[in-house]
Amino acid sequence: MSVPILEVVGVHAAYGRIEVLRGVDLVVPRGAVVALLGPNGAGKSTLVKVVSGQHRATSGDIHLGGVHVQGASPEELARLGLCTIPEGRSVFPNLTVEENLTLMSYAGVGVDAVLDTAYSYFPRLHQRRHQLAGTMSGGEQQMLAMSRALASDPALLLLDELSMGLAPLIVDELYDTVAQIAASGVSILCIEQFARTALRVSDYAAVMVGGRVVATGEPTEVLDSMSDVILGGAA
Ligand code: ATP
Repeated sequence: MSVPILEVVGVHAAYGRIEVLRGVDLVVPRGAVVALLGPNGAGKSTLVKVVSGQHRATSGDIHLGGVHVQGASPEELARLGLCTIPEGRSVFPNLTVEENLTLMSYAGVGVDAVLDTAYSYFPRLHQRRHQLAGTMSGGEQQMLAMSRALASDPALLLLDELSMGLAPLIVDELYDTVAQIAASGVSILCIEQFARTALRVSDYAAVMVGGRVVATGEPTEVLDSMSDVILGGAA
């Protein structure tokens, strides 16, 4: 078996004295889409922050593509191929779509390649390329955030609540693109409230409760055994 793209072992983390992650174990196999589900407050976003170097774990180990990265800076992690789309997106509202994308053309990735990738995944961005990003719909801004992430040619994409504030139809559309991105060879860890939608495109699911991963497996197994925890009335 090849080395997983991400391996989290026994990770603890706290805000001040309050321990939020209490020994998280999680594996993302190379090339897989893993959905990380669980109720509000379970610690999912904190895990994203720890893995992406924005919050320090108090103990445990994290390996990215076999490299020990516990304590590494966001810049080092980016060099190793990690890219995060945080909750709430991250586009420059006063720049046009094309300017947002052009800004990402650095480190040897040419402008044309960045634009080609963005517009082939999201033709709607091409139609709106001269529009200010801040005036676009939430779904279109998420498309732009995803395109900006793809510009860095990531090995592992962390998606935190792609669906936040979006209509179910748009969420479905975005997850279709997540599946296409994964098919191109990018490994993906997605944190999601819309459990069914995320599970539709996932190879594996993990459920977090109270700062620990309490179940992992194939999407259908996890949906069957943990439906009360992960659906919680949502789709
Ligand atoms: P949600 O879906 O609501 O974002 P989550 O599973 O992503 O939930 P986290 O955001 O990681 O959970 O939060 C886990 C716990 O840590 C919660 O009790 C939250 O209140 C707390 N927490 C999160 N961020 C901070 C912070 N910056 N300072 C203090 N406590 C925090």
